[in-house]
Amino acid sequence: MAPLALLVALACVITAATGYLAARARRGTPAAGPLTGTLAAVTLWGAAVVAMNAGTPRPWLDLLVLPQYLGVAGAVLGIRLFADAVTGRPPRRRRVLLLSVEPVLLLVVVALDPWWRLLHATVEHTGDPLLRFVTPGPLFWVHSGYSYLVVLSTALSLWQLRRSSSGLQRRQAGTMLLAVSVPFATNLVVVLTPAHLLNVDVTPVAFAVTGVLFAYAVLQQDLLRLVPVARSLVVDTVSDAVLVVDERDQLVDVNPAGRDLLDGAGWPGATAAGRSFREAVDPALVRAVGEGEGDVVATLAGGTQVDVRTRWIRDPRGRVLGRVVVARDVTAQVAAARAVEEANARLRAQVATIEELRAELAEEAARDPLTGLRNRRRFVDDLAQRLAATAAAGQPLSLVLLDVDRFKGINDTHGHAVGDDVLVGVAQALSTHARPEDVVRYGGEEFVVLLPHLDADAARARAEVLRAACGQVRVEVEAVRITVSAGVATSPDHGSTPDELLLAADRALYEAKEGGRDQVVLAD
Ligand code: GH3
Ligand code: MG
Ligand code: MG
Repeated sequence: MAPLALLVALACVITAATGYLAARARRGTPAAGPLTGTLAAVTLWGAAVVAMNAGTPRPWLDLLVLPQYLGVAGAVLGIRLFADAVTGRPPRRRRVLLLSVEPVLLLVVVALDPWWRLLHATVEHTGDPLLRFVTPGPLFWVHSGYSYLVVLSTALSLWQLRRSSSGLQRRQAGTMLLAVSVPFATNLVVVLTPAHLLNVDVTPVAFAVTGVLFAYAVLQQDLLRLVPVARSLVVDTVSDAVLVVDERDQLVDVNPAGRDLLDGAGWPGATAAGRSFREAVDPALVRAVGEGEGDVVATLAGGTQVDVRTRWIRDPRGRVLGRVVVARDVTAQVAAARAVEEANARLRAQVATIEELRAELAEEAARDPLTGLRNRRRFVDDLAQRLAATAAAGQPLSLVLLDVDRFKGINDTHGHAVGDDVLVGVAQALSTHARPEDVVRYGGEEFVVLLPHLDADAARARAEVLRAACGQVRVEVEAVRITVSAGVATSPDHGSTPDELLLAADRALYEAKEGGRDQVVLAD
C-alpha cells in the first residue's frame, strides 16, 4: 500500500473517532447531527480512497468511485448544515432537499459514468494496479465548482459569525473556520495540480486535520454547548437585555435589546461585545451584576431602572463558563409602584386627619361649651371604670355633688347672661381645687367633683374648700353673692356603683338645701 494511502487510512481513523466523540458528546444538540454526518462522510470518502490504493481488483475498483463521491457530497452537505446550525439558521426541510439535489444527481451520474464518461473522461490503467491515470470530465469540474461554492459560502458564514461575536464564541468560530479551510485549500491544490492524476486524493488527510480541530472545539471549547443555536430566533427577539460574560469577565455577547439598553445609559452598545465587562457598561450595572448570581434592581445613568438577574453558565462537569445577565427595564413599573405608594401615604394622612377630627369632635361633644368642663355624657361610664379600678386597688373614691343656691333667682334678677357668668366662675373655682378632668358640669347649675383616693372625712373637708372657693366667685354685677350647697358620698361606704353613689350624694345635697343651703352634708 502506498504511504499516502496509509496516511489517508490514519486520517480515516481520526475522523471516525472524532465523529463518534461528537455524536456522544452532545446528543440532541442541533449542531451535533451535521457534525457527526460530516465526519462520517469524510471517513467514507477516505475509506474509499484507501481501498482504491490497496490493490482492489479492476471491477471493484471502478465501483469504489461510488462511496468516494458519496463521501465527498456528504461532507460538503454536512459542513453546510453544520454551519447553519452554529450560526443559528433553523433547520428547514426545503433547504436540506435543495442542497441534496446536486449530490443525488451526481451519484446517479457516477453510477452510470463508465458508460457516459462525464465525470472521468479517460481512465488509463497501467501495468501497476496501483497506478492509473484519470482525466476529469466536464461534470467533474461542474461538481467541483458547485462543491467549492457551498464550502465557500460555509466559510463565509463562519467568518461572519467570527466577526460578529467575541470571546469564546469568537474563538470557536475561528477554530471552525480553520477546520473548514484546511481541506478546502488542500482539495484546491489536489484538483488544480497534476497530483490528482495519480488518483491519490489527500483531501481526506486534510479532513483528518478538520476532525482534530473539531474534536478540540468540542472537547476544549465546549463547541456544541455554547454555540448559540437559534440565538437569532430567541435571544435576539426578546425585549429583555441579555449579556453574556465569560469566566474572565469579558463581555462575550450582547443581544439587540442589550445594545439598546447600553445606548440608553450612554454606553455604546454596538461595540460593547468583546470588551471587558467592567469597562464596556454602566458601573451601576457592573455593581448590580456583582461577583456571582443575584437579583438586583439598579438605576442606570439616564434614570432607567433595571431588574438585573445574573446566573452562572456551567458545563456538564460543573466548570464555570461564564455568567448570563438578563436585565429588564422596570422604570415604568417602579414609577407606578411609587405612585401607588405615594397615593397610599396620602390616603393614610387623610385617614389620620379624619381620625383627629373625629376625636376632636368626640371630645367637643363631651365638653360643655359654656364652662369648658366635661359634661354628663360618658361621665357615668367613666365613673364606673374609675370605681372598678380604685375598688380593685382597695382605695376609696369620693364625689361631691354641688348645686348653686337660688340660681333661678339670679337669672330672674340679673338676667341670663349674669347667670352664665356665675356658672363660669363656679366652674373655674372648682377646677382650681381639683384636677380639671375630675370636674363635671352635671346639669344646669349642678356640678360633680370626683375626689379619687379620698375617704369620706377627707372628701367632706375638700368639699368645704370647694364651697368656700365658690363663695369667693365674683361677677360683674357686684350685688350677686354666690353660695353653693354640696352633698358628699364615698365608695365603698355609700355605694359601689355610679347610680348608688350619685343617689347618695343627691340625698345629702337635698339635706344641705333643707338645712339652709351654703353647706356640705356627708351621705349616711
Ligand atoms: P335651689 O337653691 O333650690 O337650687 O334653687 P334654684 O333656683 O337654684 O333651683 P332651680 O333648679 O329651680 O333653678 C335652676 C335654674 O337654672 C333653672 C334654669 O333656668 C337655670 N339654668 C339652667 N341652665 C342654665 C344656664 O346654662 N344658664 C343660665 N343662665 N341659667 C341656667
Ligand atoms: Mg338645681
Ligand atoms: Mg340651685
